[in-house]
Amino acid sequence: MLQVCHLAKSYGDLQVLKDVSMKISEGEVVCIIGPSGSGKSTFLRCLNLLEVPQQGEIIYLGQNIMEPQVDIRLIRKEIGMVFQNFNLFPLYTVLNNVSIAPIKNKNFSAKAAKEIAMKVLTDVGMENKIDAYPRQLSGGQQQRVAIARALAMEPKIMLFDEPTSALDPELVGDVLAVMRKLAQDGMTMIIVTHEMAFAKDVADRVIFMDKGYIVEEGTAHEIFSNPQNERTREFLSRVL
Ligand code: ADP
Ligand code: MG
Repeated sequence: MLQVCHLAKSYGDLQVLKDVSMKISEGEVVCIIGPSGSGKSTFLRCLNLLEVPQQGEIIYLGQNIMEPQVDIRLIRKEIGMVFQNFNLFPLYTVLNNVSIAPIKNKNFSAKAAKEIAMKVLTDVGMENKIDAYPRQLSGGQQQRVAIARALAMEPKIMLFDEPTSALDPELVGDVLAVMRKLAQDGMTMIIVTHEMAFAKDVADRVIFMDKGYIVEEGTAHEIFSNPQNERTREFLSRVL
């Protein structure tokens, strides 16, 4: 479904992604782990062109989306993203936060957008809060609304950048449960996370990134129980 070949990205003199290649098939869940500063967020942001890589290819359904003629908006419709800090619109209600994207980007009527918003808000367990404003919600509730907002675009792939890192510990479980359900329903997902137990449980594949490279990649069992690379072992010894 998505294939990344020899991706490189620098900010000025700082090369953040050095030579990153990976693939993900439809319905697969890939978790990316690794130390802070290793380029995980930059990598995810490149995948839906929030950042423009200097080198390499990103092939989505057979098309290199880095070609200049590709419509970036189309890619963003198909590849949804959920951020660490929710990024909800503070002045919109929950319902409007979720329905605005299909109205603006998919030319949905207000009625059709509301219908899909209600469906995805129900999927994330937030159907009782449709008239609330973000500030009236807990972090975990805001993140579930942010997930619903991404789902309202009916994406083919969902990217998650540390979706539970900003949450109080007791709120993490609800968000992970929503993501687990999405995985079970067959969503293709790439998840940057520090939740190792979740990754062990849900990931079809785990990628360990360090210093702008994919250092090691394998099943959750291979990475967590039998890591081959010294850097992977050292990282896991600090976080597990
Ligand atoms: P991670 O998500 O693994 O913590 P990031 O991709 O956020 O890593 O960052 C990798 C490196 O790139 C860090 O050294 C960070 O400071 C730098 N970086 C990230 N975004 C920018 C930016 N917009 N401009 C300059 N440097 C950046
Ligand atoms: Mg990051």
